[in-house]
Amino acid sequence: MSSLPAAFIGHGSPMNTLETNRYTTAWREFGASIDRPRAIVCISAHWYVNATVVTAMQAPRTIHDFYGFPQELFDVDYPAPGSPAVAQDVVDALAPTWCGLDTDSWGLDHGTWSVLAHLWPSADVPVLQLSLDAQKPIEEHIAIGRALEPLRHEGILLLGSGNVVHNLGLIDWSNTDGGADWAHVFDNATRSVMTSEPAQLGSVLELPEAQPAVPTPDHFLPLAYIAGIADAAGTPARTLIDGYAYGSLSMTSYVVD
Ligand code: ZN
Repeated sequence: MSSLPAAFIGHGSPMNTLETNRYTTAWREFGASIDRPRAIVCISAHWYVNATVVTAMQAPRTIHDFYGFPQELFDVDYPAPGSPAVAQDVVDALAPTWCGLDTDSWGLDHGTWSVLAHLWPSADVPVLQLSLDAQKPIEEHIAIGRALEPLRHEGILLLGSGNVVHNLGLIDWSNTDGGADWAHVFDNATRSVMTSEPAQLGSVLELPEAQPAVPTPDHFLPLAYIAGIADAAGTPARTLIDGYAYGSLSMTSYVVD
């Protein structure tokens, strides 16, 4: 079984599902560059609950967890199968950290399918989601990433899907492809850590710019898993693509080879 890279994808607007732009092109090229995975495990910003849980159903549903978007987006289906067996592999990899098996609650939310629509468009590989436990400090999310790392040597593609900078309250619709000054400071600081000492990711949350950049932890935390994977692999992450949207979103994505 071949070893696979791991990646954090800055997913931005759900509309990226339907668009072709430089971000979706980079996600597509990344997917086309890797060996076919046995399964994909995605940590999405949009499954932020009070426990660590992995989806374990045979056929996860496509969840349309947003409103105010065109019908075309509600019509998107990502019909990938699940894999109860791989879910058990995740539980075993995380032990002694407890991880629950979700057989009938969640499925694939848009953090996962807006990215996979480009990264793995054929939807013919089992896809699982691993939740973000809102009660855990960032160090524990990094530790779970470390524990997941061996799975990528067993044909599992590990993905984080969020945004390094994500503040919907400060969106500037006129600044389509730009970022506010504080967004640049925070995104650049995060990049220096991810590309040198990813285990220190928590340090950027001490910056004053973290306040506007990470008003809630959900979109930032998927990156902690990729930081943990990079730490366990002994290799820093590299930037896959970077940029900004609407002033207060960073689109930066990272790969651990
Ligand atoms: Zn999102």
